[in-house]
Amino acid sequence: MPAYPHLFRPLELPGARLPNRILMGSMHTGLEARPDGMERLAAFYAERARGGAALLVTGGFSPNDAGELGPHRAQLSAAADRDRHRVIPRAVHEAGSRIVLQLLHSGRYGYHPGIVAPSPLKSVINPNAPRELAREEIAQTIADFVRAARLAQEAGYDGVEVMGSEGYLITQFLAPRTNQRRDEWGGSLENRMRFACEVVRGIRSASGPEFIIVYRISALDLVEGGLTGEETVRVAQGVERAGATLLNTGIGWHEARIPTIAQAVPRAGFAWTARRLKQAVGIPVIASNRINAPETAEQILARGDADMVSLARALLADAEFAAKARAGDRAGINICIACNQACLDHYFVGQPASCVVNPRAGRETKLVYAPAAQRRRVAVVGGGPAGLSCAAVAAERGHAVVLYERAAELGGQFNLAKRVPGKQEFAESIAYYAERLRRAGAAVRLPCTPAAAELEQFDEVVLATGIDPRRPPIPGIEHPRVVGYTEALSGSAAIGRNVAIIGAGGIGFDVALYLLERESRSQVDAEAFAHHWGIDRSPGAPGGLDPAGPAKPQPAHRITMLKRSHTPFGHTLGRSTGWVHRLELQKNGVAMLKGVEYRRIDDAGLHVAIDGAESIIPADTIIVCAGQEPRRELAAPLERAGRAPHVIGGARLATELDAKRAMLEGADLAARL
Ligand code: NAP
Ligand code: SF4
Repeated sequence: MPAYPHLFRPLELPGARLPNRILMGSMHTGLEARPDGMERLAAFYAERARGGAALLVTGGFSPNDAGELGPHRAQLSAAADRDRHRVIPRAVHEAGSRIVLQLLHSGRYGYHPGIVAPSPLKSVINPNAPRELAREEIAQTIADFVRAARLAQEAGYDGVEVMGSEGYLITQFLAPRTNQRRDEWGGSLENRMRFACEVVRGIRSASGPEFIIVYRISALDLVEGGLTGEETVRVAQGVERAGATLLNTGIGWHEARIPTIAQAVPRAGFAWTARRLKQAVGIPVIASNRINAPETAEQILARGDADMVSLARALLADAEFAAKARAGDRAGINICIACNQACLDHYFVGQPASCVVNPRAGRETKLVYAPAAQRRRVAVVGGGPAGLSCAAVAAERGHAVVLYERAAELGGQFNLAKRVPGKQEFAESIAYYAERLRRAGAAVRLPCTPAAAELEQFDEVVLATGIDPRRPPIPGIEHPRVVGYTEALSGSAAIGRNVAIIGAGGIGFDVALYLLERESRSQVDAEAFAHHWGIDRSPGAPGGLDPAGPAKPQPAHRITMLKRSHTPFGHTLGRSTGWVHRLELQKNGVAMLKGVEYRRIDDAGLHVAIDGAESIIPADTIIVCAGQEPRRELAAPLERAGRAPHVIGGARLATELDAKRAMLEGADLAARL
């Protein structure tokens, strides 16, 4: 009996038999518009196709100029675009899978001056206001979609995905929030869904019965003035009649203030929306968002919530997810931890997407783990993210690796991170890397701190010894009410009701969240999540929003966060996730003080001055989250012995250390050893 029988049941489509129920969802890779983008994309998709995903979806390509997301050209509108694309479907077909191209018209979400929309209403997340589409322009835009689909077909794609969710143009036609037209494209739902249906109908009639048309529906808008569940069902039925082959689901507009894919969302937290659609249409329905493990996917299918599952970031984290799941090798799967740090956050700053836990993602042609020419003895000191990544790749390349870790367990800072609400997925990464080490035959010594002399026997020594939390020289810092973030997060220190947090970087936010949300089930249970964020699951709720709003928190602590600089709070957090953390803390009444000078700590609390005004923060507990210093005490004795160690991760540079840099440095060094 296979481990995941529903996941590996074939699915019959007109003219195609998919070998399993795994669709690789569309992701912005940031490569689409680069000069070498098509070749790199071909390698990226081919690796995922070889890994067993049945059907892949590309990142979004606009059918015309107005629909572009940004100033970079990710467009399919001319023969030259078509010819550039050919390499992608060819590579995927050679790898034994199928691929559809996503057609995305951004409407009012585009970041350029030429944006258009059904009505000239500006979005809160875009400084540019759109121009209202004239009626003849609407007809032309539909024709542009159809032309793009034909070009995709000529390029060799198996189909297209029509992006009708996340608040882009098609959704802007659908929702009263953004469509105030009085002609045949606005007003009644029938009129508002005409654009979506005409796009699908046009593509179907131009491309024949076997061309796959995935329609990505907004299963839950999560904005005021969005569709109700009942209206969404009617849209689904409309696009089915118009000729869609598959119904994929998208959740939430980009301007929604409810997390949809971040760590705050439980696994499969939105699968219920797919179920509502599946009960109303005859074509297969695809569930999406936070499906990152095969057992999660299997449960969705076994429950009958959906016919397929969309895995996107999960396949960035592990290109071989499907093949490993088919083999029942759960322990061998590198699980996406939903951090967004190297994927979505990269896209926002114009960098190609990669993955924190899989640095090779997006670097398939550059970061190559070739077998080592000569087997060397390699010592890696430190079993945190940098050391784990380095030791695993080095051992897999054939080196004889010994990993030393001074704690009783592997994981380093990941062991603290996994205690933060929503970050429990970090435990998966530790288990996965430990398993890779075991399979590659690396020796793991723990708890063990090697002497420099012991390390001299190795050909290569890698110091990944991490960091020490910084203890700022504030008078009274030794006071018993002062606690380090390590003790706070590990639960080893008693924390009073009134808390002051010194430092407001990622860890200051994590600590505040830990204190306020550690009892919450919202990150692991879909119903608790809906209650927490004010989602109404009944079919008549506009936008799926509860009119009463999110649950009112009852914070267990009164928290004040402080920092010396004047920069906005949370500005160092990820672009796609920082707002979630800020919102949580605001809801819990966390006070945030910047421009602070720390004077002293005593029995009265934390004495500070802000703009010259002295005050006391009457804190029972003061938690220090003031950054880190590198820990590399082994470097000097090794250098004295004539052995230059490789220093990576926090041990090399503690400033702005994060898991992404640590794991990349580890893998990059190991690929060169
Ligand atoms: P951090 O982001 O560098 O923040 C350190 C904080 O300490 C700053 O707010 C800084 O603010 C303050 N500080 C620095 N030196 C100080 C001193 N001598 N006295 C008093 N305050 C001082 O470091 P972190 O919060 O420890 O995070 C470590 C790394 O982990 C970061 O790179 C972060 O990106 C990563 N991380 C990320 C997340 C995430 O959600 N993305 C979560 C956790 C950790 P002032 O200088 O203004 O006082
Ligand atoms: Fe998942 Fe984080 Fe990797 Fe993105 S960077 S794919 S969210 S683990």
